[in-house]
Amino acid sequence: MNREQFRAAAHAAIDEIIDYFDNLPSQRVLPTVEPGYLRPQIPENPPEEGEAWIDIQADIESKIKPGLTHWQSPNFMAFFPATVSYPSILGEMYSAAFTAPAFNWLCSPACTELETIVMDWMCKALALPACFLSTSENRGGGVIQVSASDSVATMMVAARERHVHEQVKAEGLEEGTAAYEDRSMELRPALVALGSDQAHSSTAKAALIAGTRYRSVPTRLEDNLEMTGSALRSVLEQCERDGLTPYYITLTMGTTNTCALDRYAEIKAVLKEKPSWQRIWVHIDAAYAGSALVAPEWQYIAQEFAEGIDSFNMNMHKWLLVNFDASCLFVRNRLDLTNALDITPAYLRNTYSDTGKVIDYRNWQISLGRRFRALKIWFVMRSYGLQGMRAHIRKTIELGNLFADLVRSRPDMFEILTKPAFGLTVLRIKSPKASQSAPSSGIQPDAASDALTKSVSGLINQRGEIFITPTVIAGVSAIRVVSGNAQVEEPYMRRAFDILVKTTEEILGENK
Ligand code: PLP
Repeated sequence: MNREQFRAAAHAAIDEIIDYFDNLPSQRVLPTVEPGYLRPQIPENPPEEGEAWIDIQADIESKIKPGLTHWQSPNFMAFFPATVSYPSILGEMYSAAFTAPAFNWLCSPACTELETIVMDWMCKALALPACFLSTSENRGGGVIQVSASDSVATMMVAARERHVHEQVKAEGLEEGTAAYEDRSMELRPALVALGSDQAHSSTAKAALIAGTRYRSVPTRLEDNLEMTGSALRSVLEQCERDGLTPYYITLTMGTTNTCALDRYAEIKAVLKEKPSWQRIWVHIDAAYAGSALVAPEWQYIAQEFAEGIDSFNMNMHKWLLVNFDASCLFVRNRLDLTNALDITPAYLRNTYSDTGKVIDYRNWQISLGRRFRALKIWFVMRSYGLQGMRAHIRKTIELGNLFADLVRSRPDMFEILTKPAFGLTVLRIKSPKASQSAPSSGIQPDAASDALTKSVSGLINQRGEIFITPTVIAGVSAIRVVSGNAQVEEPYMRRAFDILVKTTEEILGENK
């Protein structure tokens, strides 16, 4: 493809992308294809001769679009959203054009320096503690990771290394000796990472990657599925009895199932109770709900967890208008990261890195090469401004509240299971028997309600007019509906509620 062909193809692609967005509201959210639909439509072998762009582009419409789940549709209310915006797409285009696996500062200074600047902007935008700024005296800073899972795994490896090295040095062993290495390895089997039973599975997976144990802290529906200080204390004490050493904990701001907030103040008080607990690395996973911190009315949450945490991550690629991948990870002391991950063979050395004055982000992540992701964040922050970002967050939370109010308006049919939060409503369908009996305190397991809830969510998703998530909350079948999508407007939330009511009536009618 030459430059003129590229110009024409790029214009045509952009026209098609704009049309795609325009037509989304009238499309089914979920595709109707069956597994394996694509292979018969694509030649068995790659083409020997290059093909014309016009033929390649035609296949987007005929072969790719039929197999897409439309995450950008205003009728997509499942999981958490994966937002995108036009400025973000432009960022991706420039990033592709300037392609460089910018692992060291020298590999593309603008890539590294813009990343440091936009992470400082984000730290301020989210009202995170100043210890996470790149300019902080404690040598904090932010780095863009691919995903929250990468952020958590990276932090856990850093936490493990910090813990082990502190211990081995305290025992008087000299770094670089065989005795030092042997002792470091001896300590590992007792190490245990913690998270609540509602923490995202990436925390358990990170423990697998870090090669340590994992224990979860139980939560209760009565506590809105938040991790409490007392539940954590019990687990810490049990670890002690089992001869295990907790070294890392994930606290969640906005759990995946229900958007619960762990009880930071209580937890931090518990962690202060014993010197060994004070050494535990505290990470806040705010993958989805962290975006709400751009709005001052939610920033009290950042103040609650501010002091005494080691790291924090949130995904702009969920709710904050930057497309995947854009997970913002902040660390209090970058040396914890670089001490764990800096391995520098001769071919990666250069005079700038040797001065120690530049950041080489390869030492802040697992992989070596990295994309120019700061551009899309910069474009989005400048195009929307903080006001535009706050307006998006406020609008989508209000729409979630509207949906929750609609659900509450039918107490005969629906029951909300946990506090609606950050645009997420978690509900179940009441069985006719339960709706006739006197209201009981707390959510009771109910097999008939479970069956109904599963049937309703199954039928709704099968029809594909809207997409919602079936789940299980504390042993109870539930439906999650999220309004965080960038395209969502009030009529879509009202329509989603109407679909929920009609489908429930239909299933109840069939069961009579
Ligand atoms: N943490 C939380 C609280 C989440 O809800 C999710 C995904 O929904 C993740 C982590 C994983 O996110 P990612 O896909 O960026 O790894």
